[in-house]
Amino acid sequence: MMNLISAMAKTGDVICYVIDSTNIVARAEQIHSTSSAVTAAFGRLLTVASLMGARLKGEKDSLNLQLKGDGPAGSFLAVSGSSGNVRGYVQNPRVELPLNQNGKLDVAGAVGKEGFLYVVRDFGFGEPYIGSSPIVSGEIAEDITHYYATSEQTPTVCALGVLVNTDLTVINAGGFIVQMLPGASDEAIDIIEASTNAMPPITQLLCEGKSPEDIAGMLLNGFEYDILERRVTEYHCDCSLERVTRILSAIDPDDLEQMAQEQPITEVDCHFCPKIYRFSSDEIRCLIKKQ
Ligand code: ZN
Repeated sequence: MMNLISAMAKTGDVICYVIDSTNIVARAEQIHSTSSAVTAAFGRLLTVASLMGARLKGEKDSLNLQLKGDGPAGSFLAVSGSSGNVRGYVQNPRVELPLNQNGKLDVAGAVGKEGFLYVVRDFGFGEPYIGSSPIVSGEIAEDITHYYATSEQTPTVCALGVLVNTDLTVINAGGFIVQMLPGASDEAIDIIEASTNAMPPITQLLCEGKSPEDIAGMLLNGFEYDILERRVTEYHCDCSLERVTRILSAIDPDDLEQMAQEQPITEVDCHFCPKIYRFSSDEIRCLIKKQ
């Protein structure tokens, strides 16, 4: 299923990106065994990372979103590339929290309300571009909107949502980013404000069977628009034996020798996916010789 689309008003005033990220968040929940509140928080971050990654131009460009709040889930990381595929990691995935005062999963409680959102874009050459902004609510969509307003001076509306079953599986997840383009008219801004204010939660729209294209149509109601792109994005880890070997090779030889002595097989887990890489003591010693 094409789960991510972008659409632009023919007037050039506004662009929007919409994703149904149900597949991504469901896979993340399986891999990381997250509690329901963490699934909601992590799922929102992965969702927006896919939306922001899909906007990168170069094949090797990458985007890291790091959320470092003072909540019990600890820090969150979501990584994506220009494909829009994402992977991620949470420090404490199984933290349980009661529902918040609105009876909703307590995303802000898991993330914390003090801390920073870091956005790192790496274009494969030179220093990566690093932006940051303070966490404003811990609900993530507001934090992203605030980041765009303060760090990139781009008026943006962002909405993100994750709906979780009582058995912890993911019912659905999705999100959108709407951005006014340079020189947007006041009239266009008013129309977008009205349409985004009137939008029901994205998880409700997905429950009603609305597609990303339907949702883009609702956001750009009042404009003639073009669909710029439709694509498939998923949870995808690109770890490999080669990459893990390279990381091990950078470890101090004394520490490697200690590993080789302490256990016949050294296991290295990928933080992003269930893969485990195993190295025998002989293989570890081989790495020392190559250093
Ligand atoms: Zn992996």
